[in-house]
Amino acid sequence: MASRAEYEKLLERAYAQMPEGPVERTERLEVPRPRVSIVGSRTIFHNFKEFCDAVNRKPEFCLRFFSRELATAGYFDGVRAIFQGVFEEDTIQRLIQIFLRDYVICPVCKRPDTHLVKEKRIMFLICDACGAKSPVRPL
Ligand SMILES: [Zn+2]
Repeated sequence: MASRAEYEKLLERAYAQMPEGPVERTERLEVPRPRVSIVGSRTIFHNFKEFCDAVNRKPEFCLRFFSRELATAGYFDGVRAIFQGVFEEDTIQRLIQIFLRDYVICPVCKRPDTHLVKEKRIMFLICDACGAKSPVRPL
């Protein structure tokens, strides 16, 4: 395990490598509206797989994000995600926006054609459109 200071140094270096430039272009990504229902003390995100496919991210990765943000346990049953606890659709919708901003949309050109890579414990969002390499919050 790297120390916190080491990690921050890595992150700093990564940020320094970020390309600069104006941010003006915007491209909308077609993300399905989440279908959410509450059953007992659990929240079911019915079209979770559809969401993962739309943003082109692995369900395991998306699940980790939602579980972290909701601070609860969740599992993926192949189609749906089921979370412990009661969460409103608005909450899920807000988290989707955060997910898109942090792990899908290129911060440089605002396009959604990106993928993630991990280098030395730092995760980067690589843009397939403009080539930008941006560090993202570890997940
Ligand atoms: Zn880009």
